[in-house]
Amino acid sequence: FTDTHVRGRFAPSPTGPLHPGSLLAALGSWLFAHHARGAWLVRVEDIDPPREQAGAIDHQLRTLAAFGFTPDEAVLYQSTRDAAYAEALGQLIDAGTAFECWCSRTDLAPAGGIHHACVAGPQPGRTPAVRLRVPAGTHVAFDDAIQGRVVQDVSAEVGDFVLRRADGLWAYQLAVVVDDAAQGITDIVRGADLLDSTPRQIVLQRALGLPTPRYAHLPLVVDDAGRKLSKSQAALPIDAADPLPALRFAWAALGQSPAALADCASPGAALAAALVEFDPSRIPSRSIALHNATVASD
Ligand code: GLU
Repeated sequence: FTDTHVRGRFAPSPTGPLHPGSLLAALGSWLFAHHARGAWLVRVEDIDPPREQAGAIDHQLRTLAAFGFTPDEAVLYQSTRDAAYAEALGQLIDAGTAFECWCSRTDLAPAGGIHHACVAGPQPGRTPAVRLRVPAGTHVAFDDAIQGRVVQDVSAEVGDFVLRRADGLWAYQLAVVVDDAAQGITDIVRGADLLDSTPRQIVLQRALGLPTPRYAHLPLVVDDAGRKLSKSQAALPIDAADPLPALRFAWAALGQSPAALADCASPGAALAAALVEFDPSRIPSRSIALHNATVASD
């Protein structure tokens, strides 16, 4: 079976060193793409300078290289993509689906932070956010390769969402949708912490006339107390000098047989062996505890 059209990606934000969860996303997306004989891309999501850490981009890219993950095309940096985001935003504004909004968090607090209609009017001298209008009854349903059927009433659960922030920065939702389409991504494999964002991204794809890729949301890596390990908790960075233990952990966390990597002496050999043995149907949907790589209850 050969599908040369499969294109996957790993899209880290440079907020710190790669952690076990990001390694899982890197390995999972790499395996899905190469298992289908497709291409695997890396995209640096550097659109939020206040949250970025100096040197994180280099550190992440060097770590990926040390683990044997080589992108099949040049790395795309979101910081170079202003024109593409502006064009998409302009298209939505012209269509009347995106609008300027001066509402603050405080304004929206009584509605649980959900925006359905502007509470605040235009405020001269203050840059507005731009939101996508999500009409009542906007339901999105999709079949995730790991999590199964996902259904969300985007209007009720999320409301009109931000595309460009009041501080002028692009929202993740807009940038990710524009770039996944621009890079021809067919299969998005990432952590289940982003499962909640996917219906918004599908709404945005439809509004922009873009195709919807297939999705596979990987189990989250949690600590022994069941707490999510977030990117900003740099407590457990991945050691580029000693990739094999982390690779073995990520492989086991994907529900694959540990024996397949037991004898590998280098990351390259481990990835080659992993590719031969990879069985996507074995990936668990529930969280994975970091220290024992067993399936934890959610
Ligand atoms: N840059 C996002 C993150 O690191 C991931 C984006 C994605 O995979 O869609 O959380």
